[in-house]
Amino acid sequence: MQEKGNLSINSENFMPIIKKWLYTDKDIFIRELVSNACDAVTKLQKLNMMGEADIPTDEKFEIHVVLDQDNKTLQIIDNGIGMTADEIRKYINQIAFSGATDFLSKFQEKGEGENEIIGHFGLGFYSAFMVADSVEIDSLSYQAGAEAAKWRCEGGIDYEMETGTRETRGTTITLFIGADGEEFLNEAPLYAAMTKYCAFMPVPIYVDVVKEETEEEKAAAKKAENTLHISPEDAANLTKETAMDMLQEQKEAAEEAEAEEPKPLNDTNPLWQRKPSECTDEDYKAFYHKVFGDINDPLFWIHLNMDYPFRLKGILFFPKLVEQMDMMDGEVKLYCNQVYIADNVKEVVPEFLLLLKGVLDCPDMPLNVSRSALQNDGYVEKMNAYITKKVADKLNQMFKNDRPAFEGFWDDINIFIKYGCMREEKLYDKVKDTLLLKTTDGVYETIPEYLEKNKEKHENVIYFATDENQQAQYIRLFKEQGLEAAIMNTPVDKPFVSFLEYKNQDIKLKVQRVDADIESLQEKKDEEVSEAKKQAAEFEKNQMQDMFRAAVSNEKLNVKLEALKAEKVSAMMLLSEESRRMMEMMEAYANNAEFQAMFANMKPDETLVLNKNNKLVKALLSMAGKEEKKEDASLLCHQLYDLALMSHRPLNSDEITAFIDRSNLLLERLAELEA
Ligand code: ADP
Repeated sequence: MQEKGNLSINSENFMPIIKKWLYTDKDIFIRELVSNACDAVTKLQKLNMMGEADIPTDEKFEIHVVLDQDNKTLQIIDNGIGMTADEIRKYINQIAFSGATDFLSKFQEKGEGENEIIGHFGLGFYSAFMVADSVEIDSLSYQAGAEAAKWRCEGGIDYEMETGTRETRGTTITLFIGADGEEFLNEAPLYAAMTKYCAFMPVPIYVDVVKEETEEEKAAAKKAENTLHISPEDAANLTKETAMDMLQEQKEAAEEAEAEEPKPLNDTNPLWQRKPSECTDEDYKAFYHKVFGDINDPLFWIHLNMDYPFRLKGILFFPKLVEQMDMMDGEVKLYCNQVYIADNVKEVVPEFLLLLKGVLDCPDMPLNVSRSALQNDGYVEKMNAYITKKVADKLNQMFKNDRPAFEGFWDDINIFIKYGCMREEKLYDKVKDTLLLKTTDGVYETIPEYLEKNKEKHENVIYFATDENQQAQYIRLFKEQGLEAAIMNTPVDKPFVSFLEYKNQDIKLKVQRVDADIESLQEKKDEEVSEAKKQAAEFEKNQMQDMFRAAVSNEKLNVKLEALKAEKVSAMMLLSEESRRMMEMMEAYANNAEFQAMFANMKPDETLVLNKNNKLVKALLSMAGKEEKKEDASLLCHQLYDLALMSHRPLNSDEITAFIDRSNLLLERLAELEA
């Protein structure tokens, strides 16, 4: 049998296009060819089960990837279903070819930058030409009386067919590696690609490297042979010591031999494919360590196992946060029937999972369509809904069944959950009564619990601290009044606070920083205040405001005189929640000129609150309007202003220098008074 043909479309060779488009993901030929080999084995196993093939029960199915550096070939050998010459014509010359051209025409239409999906999803057999100058198929079909068939193709253009040489059932694909694929002739890149794509494929895979045996290896083999073969007669003549030595050597040689027993590169029955009831905690932890290379144990996990209305299996791990910096370090690996597709495929994996680590196997996912088609397909949406429900159920169940344990996880998982709620509102709706607030007293309360507990003092307001050190003064004040603030100090908290308000508009929930206002810190005001008293208070306030404005040279400074319960506190700086959020937006849009111009005249709305109950403030009040006290009063005002500022935000270098100089001056004066 001898046959020749041509594979070009409109007499144009399409291989250069394949190479160009797939350049960055060259290693996917490994996935395509090895998964074809797996499919060939699985198909045969199915036929065998249906009684349509006659395979000896003890036959092992396996795939060998053989690297021959001297001959510059890479072979993928399976003992699967095989192909007859006719099948090669049909599957390789027609179907695979039109599959590859189809794929290319689809993605050529898209502009540059739209090609991310190309690297992720199948291209099939012809991806072999990304690395090989020519490719050979040698195959023997499982069918009784089949004849081996060989197909060889140069550069993806002209092919030849003839009788094959395979004597056992299965297919050998030989890649004659060209300049574009030379890196795969080295063991390390080959192993890297193999472990990346094939680690969980369903058929045992071995990588064999063809090498000449070195002299050392020959000697070792010979030694092992000799030690293992001592006849009982010889043994009887040995002294006890030599016998012991020999036994030891024998043991070592046997162990060595055992160690050399080749192990498949892959795990053919990955944990996610097993029933959750059959997996132990240790299994999950070991899987997590191995797949994600994290030495820490995961906190907990969710095993997804769904068959209807679509198939989805997977495991989601909640990792321990080592540092805040790790927060964006999620890793969700996508598989299709145990074949690795890619990490963090945004089009497919629900976005709210992207901070977690996990594996998802979606055999029904239409993977070879474009991103927009995938999103409109409804599949992703259904998967999203299912996973959201599973995650919510798990969190609620942990909260209900073991609240102390759930509280123990909260510091690690709160970022994920808050992020998840914002990305997927359905998750929020399901877990809203399970979300915790960690308070400045170190206790964990749900939002309804917090609101209920504090409703007498402030109804439907959650106070929060973003920086426990910087806001220590305010937190202390809160505690002294028996008030509670929540600690919300992660980057997701800023948007989350607005999100909470938005989701709780029905109760007009306000979420405010501890230094945003002092309503809750003030003494209850007398209901009735006489007009005369009001005027006197207004006069005092204006006097103080003028003094402070002059002292700190800021004509716009707002000053308030209030009676705070904590006498020790002289003054506090407040910045309204609205101003603060405005400033945060300005920071976030620092590069947007239009936005900056729009708000260029916005000044943060800072207010200095003076505590009427404080001795220093009382003294300042009595100094007001007295010319001879003017200089001292100005110094004190400035010092007081700086102190308030310091517990509000860090001082800049000029402010610090001025503060130190002034402090020295004040101390000198005090010392002079004492002397
Ligand atoms: P796909 O795998 O997506 O169907 P491919 O281009 O990779 O597309 O392969 C085309 C067809 O060639 C396969 O569907 C299969 O029928 C056949 N084939 C490829 N590799 C093998 C193999 N190792 N053994 C048997 N058949 C194979």
